[in-house]
Amino acid sequence: MRYLCMKPVVDNRESKNVIRSRIGIERECRWIYPDTDLYEFARGYFREIGALVEWFLVDEAQFLSAQQVDQLSRIVDDFGCNVICYGLRTDFKTHLFEGSRRLFEIADTIDEIKSTCTCGHKTIVNARIDANGDFVNEGAQVEIGGDDRYIAVCRKCWRNQRIAQSARYSPPLTSTPNSGIYPIQKIASGPS
Ligand SMILES: [Zn+2]
Repeated sequence: MRYLCMKPVVDNRESKNVIRSRIGIERECRWIYPDTDLYEFARGYFREIGALVEWFLVDEAQFLSAQQVDQLSRIVDDFGCNVICYGLRTDFKTHLFEGSRRLFEIADTIDEIKSTCTCGHKTIVNARIDANGDFVNEGAQVEIGGDDRYIAVCRKCWRNQRIAQSARYSPPLTSTPNSGIYPIQKIASGPS
């Protein structure tokens, strides 16, 4: 069985072209650039090796363009290959990624890989967290070179934490000087 692993280039700092699974297995992969025509790439690759590839495995498929997802669908329809895409449904603001949207629109099957929030509910949101462990609500969909990390949480925990954060960072309605910690100082001093 011939297969080929592929992955969109998101961060130029990634020098090692491997797909790494959570259980530690690594596979070398081909980069997909924003201007890569995947259909043309596949045709060239088949010519190069003199055979068809039965399975294409695409990691981080949320970062594909809608056009590239369409190109993958033509690989399936014209050559009878199997294309399996793995990726996230939504970004840290809970909106669909471009590649994911197109996959939902035209994929033959969608399988959800479920995971559980610390509270026991199904995770829905991939929240971006800053150095203080707070959820980030602003910023680009893809943050290159940032130190932000991500945590999967359920919708309710995502909402509750944001409510708690906004309460923490709002100045108290009534305050006595020197009465203790002022949440406003947190904003003034910025991230440590
Ligand atoms: Zn939860």
